[in-house]
Amino acid sequence: MRRIHVEAHAKVNLGLRVAGARPDGYHDIETVFQTVSLSDTVFLEASNRGISLSCEGIPVPAGPSNLAWQAAAQLMRELAAPAMSITLFKRIPVAAGLGGGSADAAAVLMGGCALFDLEVSDAQLGSLALKIGSDVPFLLRGGTARGLGRGEILESMGPLSGFWLLLVTPLFPIRAKEAYAGVRIGLTRDRCYTKLNSSAIREGELGSLVTALRNDLEPGVISCHPEVGVVKQALLDAGVQAAVMSGSGPTVIGLVRSREEATTLSPHLEGHGWQIHIVEPIDSGCRVEGA
Ligand code: ATP
Repeated sequence: MRRIHVEAHAKVNLGLRVAGARPDGYHDIETVFQTVSLSDTVFLEASNRGISLSCEGIPVPAGPSNLAWQAAAQLMRELAAPAMSITLFKRIPVAAGLGGGSADAAAVLMGGCALFDLEVSDAQLGSLALKIGSDVPFLLRGGTARGLGRGEILESMGPLSGFWLLLVTPLFPIRAKEAYAGVRIGLTRDRCYTKLNSSAIREGELGSLVTALRNDLEPGVISCHPEVGVVKQALLDAGVQAAVMSGSGPTVIGLVRSREEATTLSPHLEGHGWQIHIVEPIDSGCRVEGA
């Protein structure tokens, strides 16, 4: 039986501005998304009836609350896809600001279309993705992109290269809703942000990217979870070029110039019970690896 293999890559936010609350309960943001080499693996195959999901690795619910399941349900409802069976190997830390659930959903959307030869335009797939979550449209295409609106209005940037990242994740989850509840809107409008980030990214200049990195959700999260501030300081003390919380946290990313530098600094961050991943930016989103 035909089996599709998709790598579902995590994202980081190279800075995030919150422009304001919206009547629909979401916030308008401005961010620079970047996919990284850390990924979950998703296998898809046709099944006899309904959706079945099995999860290995980091524990996640294996029922209808799983975003991979919800993506399969969307494909069946909206595009008349046949029943499917999903196997998920979970490596991306959960509720960590790395978009892991959204990446799995994007992988099922993309993999399901490939498995069943579904005819679907990019715009149609993008709108199915947005029904599942704000980050899913970006995670379908990946690379480097400016995200506006809820994060679904995407402008390609980059590609970025010439740096590596240390991802340091303390072992408690943060829900996006909680992080946004703590933001102080009004102090955050800074038109220089995009300009700085855009030109830094165009020029691939790590120095100016470093000065532009800021996440408006970070102060509120640190006041509720001081350990996030401890992680950030530990990264800076270890010698990274810059450190900033990714998305709604609690993962803090540290920028370094090379894999060797990341490997040298990483032992300074051990002994606290934090998860550490050394990753590089990649210029794609979820990738169908073949049948
Ligand atoms: P974002 O940055 O998009 O806010 P995140 O990285 O902070 O996302 P996720 O790892 O996507 O968070 O998980 C958020 C919530 O979604 C968790 O409460 C988790 O239980 C639930 N969830 C549902 N499906 C998945 C999945 N496939 N992988 C991880 N979490 C999932």
